[in-house]
Amino acid sequence: MKGKAQVTKHTGSHYLLEDMEGGELFPAVLRGRMRLKDANATNPVAVGDIVDYEYEDSPSAENPAAMVPIHPRLKLPFLDRILLTCEAYKIPAIIVLNKTDLYRDEVPEELARFHEIYEKAGYRVIETSTLNGEGIDELRSLCEGRLSLFSGESGVGKSSMIKALDPSLDPKTGEISLAHLQGRHTTTFYEMYEFSSPSGAKGKIIDPPGIRGFGLVDLEKEEIPLYFPEMLRASENCRFTPCTHTHEPGCAVKAALEDGSISRERYNSYLGMLEDINEGKYR
Ligand code: GDP
Ligand code: ZN
Repeated sequence: MKGKAQVTKHTGSHYLLEDMEGGELFPAVLRGRMRLKDANATNPVAVGDIVDYEYEDSPSAENPAAMVPIHPRLKLPFLDRILLTCEAYKIPAIIVLNKTDLYRDEVPEELARFHEIYEKAGYRVIETSTLNGEGIDELRSLCEGRLSLFSGESGVGKSSMIKALDPSLDPKTGEISLAHLQGRHTTTFYEMYEFSSPSGAKGKIIDPPGIRGFGLVDLEKEEIPLYFPEMLRASENCRFTPCTHTHEPGCAVKAALEDGSISRERYNSYLGMLEDINEGKYR
């Protein structure tokens, strides 16, 4: 059996999954290679995450199903909200996929699709691993001579990235010791770090506290498509202005969706945001 499931519970190395289609509950563990490779990292799967699973015999506690987290697909609406906020404030955004050592070989199709979605939208996507150093030079050169903020949920590796950029910095242990303000293992407030590269160039990074959810900036729903760069470009050719790109005839965004030049995933994120605003969330 193969399928997709949502993680409903997590105890030690065992997870309880709920099948996305039938709703059955069954135990699972991370697939072998991921488990080994992740021995030193925190748990790569959280309750609420969507995973691919596979089993031969009916899974039980002794014979759990094997699962692999679907990283790239997982957090797209979350990422799209961060990107939208960047667009609204005219902050250039670059997408960093960290921990590639964990999933590059596990989910190559998802990874390729992820690049396609965001590169088509006009974003630069880089891959890093603070574990094996991949992509760190590229990240450093992107951060040189400017002030950057690493946004992302807690646990994705923001502090590790700062340390990888400049090993003399150590956000987690708090070298700039404000022990009474900061727990030893968690970043509890915004802090700025200045790094120096081996070539002597400098840059500044803000390490924000971990974010769990991400609301929309205070926007009218007509404004949202202005902050999806690919929709904004296409909308020049919509018959109506403004166009919500949902039901209007002669909508160039929907045409772009049909011919694949705007991705379904991004469009669905847009619809999700419209829905949230209609339901009065974030107000
Ligand atoms: P933050 O909460 O975003 O600042 O995340 P941390 O930097 O504290 O990292 C969370 C966990 O992920 C730690 O256990 C890190 O050792 C681990 N981690 C960070 N980067 C990588 C990576 O590139 N690969 C792997 N496998 N683990 C990583
Ligand atoms: Zn339109």
